[in-house]
Amino acid sequence: MKAFVTGGAGFIGSSLSERLVKDGWEVTIFDNLSAGSKENLEQLVTNQHGESATLIVGDCTRPSTLKNALKDCDVVFHFAANPEVRMELNNPKDCFRQNIYATHNLLEAFRKSKAETIVFASTSTVYGEAKVLPTPEEYSPLDPISVYGASKLAGEALVGSSCHAFCKRGIILRFANVIGPRSNHGVVTEFIHRLAQNPQELTIMGDGSQNKSLEAFNVGTEDSLSVKDIGTAVAKTMGLINLRFKFNGGLGDGRGWVGDVRSMLLDVTKLKSLGWIPRLNSRNAVEETVKSKLHSLGNGGLDNVRKTRNQAKDSDSSEG
Ligand code: NAD
Repeated sequence: MKAFVTGGAGFIGSSLSERLVKDGWEVTIFDNLSAGSKENLEQLVTNQHGESATLIVGDCTRPSTLKNALKDCDVVFHFAANPEVRMELNNPKDCFRQNIYATHNLLEAFRKSKAETIVFASTSTVYGEAKVLPTPEEYSPLDPISVYGASKLAGEALVGSSCHAFCKRGIILRFANVIGPRSNHGVVTEFIHRLAQNPQELTIMGDGSQNKSLEAFNVGTEDSLSVKDIGTAVAKTMGLINLRFKFNGGLGDGRGWVGDVRSMLLDVTKLKSLGWIPRLNSRNAVEETVKSKLHSLGNGGLDNVRKTRNQAKDSDSSEG
């Protein structure tokens, strides 16, 4: 089987590509390397045919570069995006271009290819402030409160309508917060950076059986952690004690920023019914991520984090 993975040099896409190659797929990665890197692909092994993945450096916002790239593939995994949720860090126009226009271009190429299936990386933020927790896939109305969530919901609708119109199959993966060794954004990465800066204090913002052309699956752990608990777990794994928390109050209702969803927990029963189980709970995932990040920083790594942080004071980031 041949896979075409957009965003395959990024955090989640590179792990997906590794797994596909291991499982014997022929993988073509399409990435503009704006956030992803060739280093993320260093763990790529060769499959039983001695093949590894092929990297095409290209941009989904440029239809001409996509034109022949996915001609022969069987399954398209669309993971390229601007993954920033925080509105103040995300220009709505850029979000539209990277998450909606790019998806439209990819779907045009998908339509003309022989590929039958597309898997789209969506997000729990499409639910907005869901009144049902854990939230099942059929929850409605889908009412995102961030431009990012809205752009991903638009992406879902474009994938669904294209699959319906062209008799193809679409699978939507609604990821909760994803963390792990190669992630370079999100709350855990952010807390490591803040604690490298000030090990004594952590600032926390805010206190079915029928055949369908489109199917959505929630992907997440079965538990949740408060942001304060995440901070405690990050600090503990970094070996920091006597930590005090400084809450900046956020927007007054405890929310950290405009578009921040206060409580989120996905119902993953549907994916589990297919045999998938979350290997780690939320706390273990945070601890494993911090350990691997500290390991990859090596000796003196935190000093580098501090220096980088000082150079880019404003670059805050977080998913969900
Ligand atoms: P990431 O930034 O590590 O990966 C995105 C990749 O897409 C990067 O390699 C980047 O270089 C590439 N890219 C961006 N724009 C592109 C373009 N126009 N053309 C080609 N390549 C482009 O992010 P990630 O965390 O791995 O996220 C992967 C997907 O999962 C995204 O669609 C994101 O919205 C979604 N998602 C992530 C999370 C999370 O917690 N990380 C949660 C929910 C959904």
